[in-house]
Amino acid sequence: KFITLEGGEGVGKSTQIRLLGEALRARGLDVVETREPGGTEGAEAIRALLLGGAADRWNPQAEALLFAAARADHVARVIRPALDRGAWVLCDRFIDSNRAYQAGASGLADDDIMAAHRIGSGGLMPDRTLLLTLPLDVAAERAMQRDAGRADRFGARGRAFHEAVNAAFMAQAAQEPARIRIIDATDGAAIVSARIQTEIEDLLP
Ligand code: C5P
Repeated sequence: KFITLEGGEGVGKSTQIRLLGEALRARGLDVVETREPGGTEGAEAIRALLLGGAADRWNPQAEALLFAAARADHVARVIRPALDRGAWVLCDRFIDSNRAYQAGASGLADDDIMAAHRIGSGGLMPDRTLLLTLPLDVAAERAMQRDAGRADRFGARGRAFHEAVNAAFMAQAAQEPARIRIIDATDGAAIVSARIQTEIEDLLP
């Protein structure tokens, strides 16, 4: 099964991937934890290109194509092979992030994002997506603590941008309620993890 975690910065995706991985392994399942952009040597190199440099280093079109290229490598080398052998793949961000950040908040057409995804990755979609939600102020506080000392070209985006990202994520969830489940991430990590596990229970063997 292919599970993705989505949401803005600071909502706790990486912690929750780890906790879900532990829970699934405790059931004897083969689990692969990975992240985007990245997950392979080539895709991590593209990640460095994406995150580094000046804020205007890439225009939104070039940025979207770099994300698609990184994902093509990641899907071909890691995600597809793992799914083919029956593993559970847990991925921190996937196509829905591009739809929220590059389409919803940066103005590209959703159709174009999906077209790049079809060309690069055969249009692979997750079996389930957990959208972690947190009030913007709380998320900003958590992201600031985590990212102290980390400066990337995305750091300068203002509140309006992140509000647009969140709104785009919520619109996607409303369109695809069977796949995308909204998870309130305000509570402690263990409680949030229990919520996530409930939302994937029907996929378990
Ligand atoms: O998930 P993580 O916080 O590592 O993402 C790194 C940066 O890339 C964040 O600032 C995030 O907002 C940005 N990003 C983006 N568009 C995406 C995915 C991530 O701007 N599609």
